[in-house]
Amino acid sequence: MRNAFEIGNGRIEAGTIGRAALPVGAEADGRPKEIPLLICHGEKDGPRLWINGATHGDEPEGAFSIFRLFDQLDPSEVCGTVIGVPAMNVPAFEAGKRGDPLDSFTYDMNRMYPGAADGYPTERAAWAHWLGMKDTCDLQIAVHSGGEHSYLAHMIFAADNPQSLELAAAMGEPWDLVFRSGVGGANPASKMAELGKAGVTVELGGNCRTLTSDFHEIANDLAAGYLNVMRHYGMAPGDATYAPEWRMGHQEALLAPSSGMWVGDKDMAFETAMPAGAPLGNVYDLYGTVTAEVVAPKEGVVFGLRSRPSVLEGEWCCFFGIIDEVRDDLIP
Ligand SMILES: [Zn+2]
Repeated sequence: MRNAFEIGNGRIEAGTIGRAALPVGAEADGRPKEIPLLICHGEKDGPRLWINGATHGDEPEGAFSIFRLFDQLDPSEVCGTVIGVPAMNVPAFEAGKRGDPLDSFTYDMNRMYPGAADGYPTERAAWAHWLGMKDTCDLQIAVHSGGEHSYLAHMIFAADNPQSLELAAAMGEPWDLVFRSGVGGANPASKMAELGKAGVTVELGGNCRTLTSDFHEIANDLAAGYLNVMRHYGMAPGDATYAPEWRMGHQEALLAPSSGMWVGDKDMAFETAMPAGAPLGNVYDLYGTVTAEVVAPKEGVVFGLRSRPSVLEGEWCCFFGIIDEVRDDLIP
């Protein structure tokens, strides 16, 4: 029988699903501050997959998709271990904000990961997560979305090593937009890649799609991707499926040219190739005059759009992707 998986305050026997928590410190009244973990410790050996949700507290897709994945896991059939982190930044999640509103110095956990043991509050939480993950992780998926102001379509930022590109491809058919990101940067995917492991950041959803069936659809879509990853690496029974090829490139943030009300073009299609000059949306002033038209700057693809109509000049309104190459060899 395989050894139990021990982490934080938890001990999960092989062939079971259990919970644990990573200690972060204490509240003013002495209650422990913790990062909750859901763990499926398979009966047989295999890779260790971490799925990290809510690094940004206004992005609940990670949490719900982890719940949906765990509903489908039979630990007696799983090879390896899945560690689900519904919310890395718990105070930010509670507030429904990108960062912990009480921490103004290190607000964005995804810009200073892995933090520091003696740092600001969010740095300490990041450090607690890093201590838990760094030696127990082979495959890392961080789950993000457009949060309170935007919608993001299927898109993966993969750390630039072959392990991470393979993990990106293992997410399956809907995930053919894979852009390279750095190794060694201040976010979980990048830090795992620095250790020679696989790290990706997947983007899907936004608060504009958290209502009833829409939220289930997003969560099920993500969970299907995680299950495909598990199949690819032999962690779960069944055959993985893949996109026939992957569009790789770089992003260009399109910023609002004027302040007012942002309205996306009614015919704009996400994830679809479009020519330079294609209409993306307009900004109206509060007299109803169109003060700016936003168009595709080059041939490319839209993978994210502002969903909150009020906009200030310089705030971003579109995530635009330029495709630099098409690859069919990300799976070795
Ligand atoms: Zn995010």
